[in-house]
Amino acid sequence: MKREEISKFLDPTKAFSEGVAFIEEFDPLTGAVCRINATRAARPKQQLGKTVETPVAKCSFCQPYIDTSTPKFPKDFCLDGRIKHGGAILFPNLFPLTDLHGVCVFTPQHKLDLNLFDAGEISDGLFASIEFLKAGREAGAPHHLLGWNQG
Ligand SMILES: [Zn+2]
Repeated sequence: MKREEISKFLDPTKAFSEGVAFIEEFDPLTGAVCRINATRAARPKQQLGKTVETPVAKCSFCQPYIDTSTPKFPKDFCLDGRIKHGGAILFPNLFPLTDLHGVCVFTPQHKLDLNLFDAGEISDGLFASIEFLKAGREAGAPHHLLGWNQG
């Protein structure tokens, strides 16, 4: 059985015009469900065992790039395009695995180690995540997914 799902977002690589990702779901041999978004193959790869230190000046998840390099939700899901709480920003995944796939960056600060986050930053990220999950439920997205990313 093969099924295709569509994820819509405002694509920063196309001047925030509507982007569409196609996610395939099938179970060719085992009956297990597998989700594939072929565009994920184009993402930058991290080598196993190596920590990639992105300089803050080039980080897509930090200012000044986060506003121009990350997607926005369609206005019928989020009027402002992104969910914000304190310093946390939550936006659609550019390479989604489901119809509603968010990414939450907890702080505008470039922090790569979890032990560097303070309680306020964790709280901001959790509140933004809760708002996303509520909005997903209200939008009727049965399989919404949320990832957290370090800025
Ligand atoms: Zn960063």
